[in-house]
Amino acid sequence: MKNTSVVNCLNILKLVVPVAALSLMSCDGGPPAEEIQEARPEPADLVLINGGIYTVDAERRVAQAAAVRDGRFVLVGDNSEIETLVGPETRTIDLDGRWVLPGFHDAHVHPAMGGFALLGCDLEAEKSVEAIISKVTECAAESGGGWLEGHAFDLSLFGQDGPNKALLDAIDTPRPIILWASDGHNAWASSKALERAGIGVETMDPALGVIERNPDGTPSGTLRETAQELVRAVMPKSTPEAYAEALQTGVSHLNSFGITSFIDAWVGLEDYEAYMALEQQNALHARVVTCLTFGSSFAKHVGEAFERVLAARKDYESERLNHDCIKLFLDGVLEGETAALLDPYVGVHSHRGELILGPEELDAAVIRFDAMGLQVHMHAIGDRAVRSGLDAVEAALKTNGIGDNRHHISHLQLIHVDDIERFGALNTTANFQAAWAYPDDWIMELNLPVLGAERVQGMYPIGSIEREEGRIVGGSDWNVSSANPLEAIELAVRRQDANAEEGPVLNEGERVSVATMIDAYTINAAWLMHQEDQTGSIEAGKRADIVVLDRNLLEIPATEINEVQVVMTLLGGEVIYLNQDIRY
Ligand SMILES: [Zn+2]
Repeated sequence: MKNTSVVNCLNILKLVVPVAALSLMSCDGGPPAEEIQEARPEPADLVLINGGIYTVDAERRVAQAAAVRDGRFVLVGDNSEIETLVGPETRTIDLDGRWVLPGFHDAHVHPAMGGFALLGCDLEAEKSVEAIISKVTECAAESGGGWLEGHAFDLSLFGQDGPNKALLDAIDTPRPIILWASDGHNAWASSKALERAGIGVETMDPALGVIERNPDGTPSGTLRETAQELVRAVMPKSTPEAYAEALQTGVSHLNSFGITSFIDAWVGLEDYEAYMALEQQNALHARVVTCLTFGSSFAKHVGEAFERVLAARKDYESERLNHDCIKLFLDGVLEGETAALLDPYVGVHSHRGELILGPEELDAAVIRFDAMGLQVHMHAIGDRAVRSGLDAVEAALKTNGIGDNRHHISHLQLIHVDDIERFGALNTTANFQAAWAYPDDWIMELNLPVLGAERVQGMYPIGSIEREEGRIVGGSDWNVSSANPLEAIELAVRRQDANAEEGPVLNEGERVSVATMIDAYTINAAWLMHQEDQTGSIEAGKRADIVVLDRNLLEIPATEINEVQVVMTLLGGEVIYLNQDIRY
């Protein structure tokens, strides 16, 4: 409310007293009118001129220039208007025709995990089995003993059974090797790693986890879902300093793609501590909502420990940091058939995958967190998981009444047609990872054989949600997939391989417009993060968070969107990323 009144105050001043001394007056009891008429306007700290500023305000206006003072926009308009606010100390950024958007908001991302990958043995770029093995061999030869950990390998290269330990055992190193798949739900362990974790032929599958086996019953090396925890439990924990360094590295990576706000989708106490450590060093370059994991799978804390961390969250908050969000995993993933489906997987009798939380347990959790004023962020891949999430929001609505907690469901690979309209009706935001929405190897090699063509055709129904007036936001799920919002925007628009001009389309009917996706990555996600009065559009009174692009997304062919470069990123008027010389 406070910000709105400042905005109104400034707008009124602009209209009635063009050269008003803003510093001399306040809305409540300003100086007499004569004094105002003679005074000069207080200069801006920073002005941006000569640009195409797509403001994402209510009218989706395009401006030429903007002025910033104390980290907020004070005026958005054309060059001549903005010039009145240039003083001797004002910095000027000449945009030279470049395009400006509000800073991107990534509504589902894992910055610390991604940071660890960037700092360690990162396999994201390796696109063949040979390339992965050669990269791991290189990493093994580098410094350090102990565990050799590799990040973000491409599971789609290995077929339904997953990768085998034999390939890792052939690498000449005494170190146990554990490689995490990019989806976060599968791991690949060497024989030494399995041995250290005590996983042998006798080991039973843990609840909600799978230890894949060779024909002779020995573990094959592929560990799914909770089976990964058997390895994680025997690995040394990283120090708080290393954790904070990984987080900072991850956030910088996001800034380089124009991201200024994000939702960290999987946190525990170590994340709260790392965020606060960066904040105390003035090194947290983003506005953040984090979601504390709860439940029987993937939770970083359970039982008493969860309650203690939840109760302590306010100690780790600041103007940029909010922890009022709970993450619930409702199912697994389609790869390995751990996602929960309404109709069985193809070729497997009556197997539909498991819900991680039974309906009663899930309803109770969402009702409880909703009553506490917390946002619930749900992971749901299969259509049965999506339905159970919507049912739980409906149960909370019935029990607690209409609130303002802004619950959302991420991933949404399959949504039953009957559930599409429930997103809008239940005010539950659809959090899509649009970078997955094209017929790649994951879909064609791993999903198609177990789902059949009809369900694959219905995947990621972004256009349907929009038509039924559901709210769409976008998230990268980095380092599961690329952090670049421009790639996700292109994929949502085309649903074709972003690196090819043409090719197979994953259901043309689900395509959406560039403008829809800009809204998803700006104002819609700002609303989801409860910061729409602060960010998400370029308007007087809001924080000066922007991304400068080298091209106008609304004027170029869709095939070019993923090639657009981020020129600079500003957070609260401060440059947090700069990729080429720009005059300022
Ligand atoms: Zn995720």
